[in-house]
Amino acid sequence: METCKRCFRPLTPDEVAVTRKLINRGATEFFCADCLAAWFEVEPQVIWERIAYFKKTGCTLFQPENP
Ligand SMILES: [Zn+2]
Repeated sequence: METCKRCFRPLTPDEVAVTRKLINRGATEFFCADCLAAWFEVEPQVIWERIAYFKKTGCTLFQPENP
């Protein structure tokens, strides 16, 4: 289980995927949605909207909603 580099919270697969997508596809250090939001100076809701968008557009970094 990956943990957030900043707050050490356990991460969901979506948070790991969105870190890869927003920061670096080859990332080995990951952030939770709240810390990503702080990094990008946006509301956490924006990060969750990005996750939903990437899933909807079939980004291969994300697990399908209904495997
Ligand atoms: Zn965090």
